[in-house]
Amino acid sequence: MKISLHRSTKPNPQNSKQNCTDMKVMKFGGTSVGTPQRMKDVVRLISDGEQNIVVLSAMSGTTNTLVEIADYLYKKNPEGANETINTLEAKYRRHVDELYTKEETKQQTLAFIKEEFDYLRSFTKGIFTMFEEKIIVGQGEILSTTMVTNYLVEQGYNACLLPALEFMRTDKNGEPDLEYIREKLRMQLEQNPDHQIYITQGFICRNAYGEVDNLQRGGSDYTASLIGAAVGASEIQIWTDIDGMHNNDPRFVEGTRPVAHLHFEEAAELAYFGAKILHPTCVQPAKFAGIPVKLLNTMDPTAPGTVISNETEHQKIKAVAAKDNITAINITSSRMLLAYGFLRKVFEIFENYKTSIDMICTSEVGVSVSIDNTANLTQIVDELKKFGTVRIDPNMCIICVVGDLDWQNVGYESEVANALHDIPVRMISYGGSNHNISFLVAASDKKRALQALSDKLF
Ligand code: ADP
Ligand code: ASP
Ligand code: MG
Repeated sequence: MKISLHRSTKPNPQNSKQNCTDMKVMKFGGTSVGTPQRMKDVVRLISDGEQNIVVLSAMSGTTNTLVEIADYLYKKNPEGANETINTLEAKYRRHVDELYTKEETKQQTLAFIKEEFDYLRSFTKGIFTMFEEKIIVGQGEILSTTMVTNYLVEQGYNACLLPALEFMRTDKNGEPDLEYIREKLRMQLEQNPDHQIYITQGFICRNAYGEVDNLQRGGSDYTASLIGAAVGASEIQIWTDIDGMHNNDPRFVEGTRPVAHLHFEEAAELAYFGAKILHPTCVQPAKFAGIPVKLLNTMDPTAPGTVISNETEHQKIKAVAAKDNITAINITSSRMLLAYGFLRKVFEIFENYKTSIDMICTSEVGVSVSIDNTANLTQIVDELKKFGTVRIDPNMCIICVVGDLDWQNVGYESEVANALHDIPVRMISYGGSNHNISFLVAASDKKRALQALSDKLF
């Protein structure tokens, strides 16, 4: 895959800092780079006089379109793929006039766009497998980062593009190889010293075999956190289209408000249980490295947003989130009564089918678990039937309430349960951590449950 390296013509040795702990990582999501004007707004934010590593997502909608192109190719419909490629190319070409002022940069960027889309068209001819798919879905980040870097260079900023495929890598288990990332990123920075702004692609990486891969949809947040941990950044900023983590899901509840501060664990629970603003994997690298994460709004940059750190605010319920597409499985058996080893056998079945469990509740004669991956549900149920009577409840959702829910804090769990007094609850999980209490309810009750919690708790 080709990646052009753009270098500023104006190195500024005064600002050179090889001590990476002074660097900040700033990640901008799809909406934040979604139009030429937004790209210009991003440039204003990243040129703050500090040395920044800037992680960019694809322009909003692009990755979905690339997924659609791959889908046509899987379905052996090159015509559908070509039409979609042409429409996307026309959209990118239209951005050029609006973004750049100099004719030279316009021509350079148009040539780059043509090369990129010719590359995409080349996939409509040969065989199509998941390897080609991975390359295609990653092109959105190559496009956005090159366009922004070209703009920065045109405007005289001291900026350069660091290709993520040169340093972002996963190991044989599909986990980020932090040692490799640290070493290769350091080399990239050393080879391109004295720049004020380093631009790189979110989302894309190579796997342990060097093939192009990605960190899953929404994974640019993960890129930012991994880079922050690798360089020991002073902070990791996730810039998006809302002023921080809200106390409830703004897509379903009205009048939600930003939460000023979250503990890493609280943020991880909220992200995992559906708060889309943050990819759940993003929390871990920052937490281990002890680097604060800030959630900020590109459209309202002075808003305080949310700070995520190792500090806990005591005696407070912070926020609510909901995770969809959950299936509850109940296994009852009189054999469980006073028996040991029963749970191990049940869990082994889920492990064998690589299916993780979200919630779990037990009684003397039964156990209920919830899962979100039903790919192997039939086989799992077949095996579970050897141990007891199995009942399935599909179309459920987990409502997760996060805050200082230490068991010594009196009254919080009853307050939360009270808020849901007229909603049928299938499972309750409390005490697994000090930070959350979760309820499993029917998906059709989700909005009502979220609203009821907001009305009573905030
Ligand atoms: P980006 O493209 O910048 O990564 P995302 O779309 O992934 O942005 O995340 C931002 C969106 O997350 C918001 O527009 C909002 O609708 C949604 N969201 C869901 N839950 C929350 C929450 N609790 N707080 C803030 N935003 C949330
Ligand atoms: N562009 C990728 C996606 O849409 C990654 C990201 O935006 O974080 O999933
Ligand atoms: Mg996102």
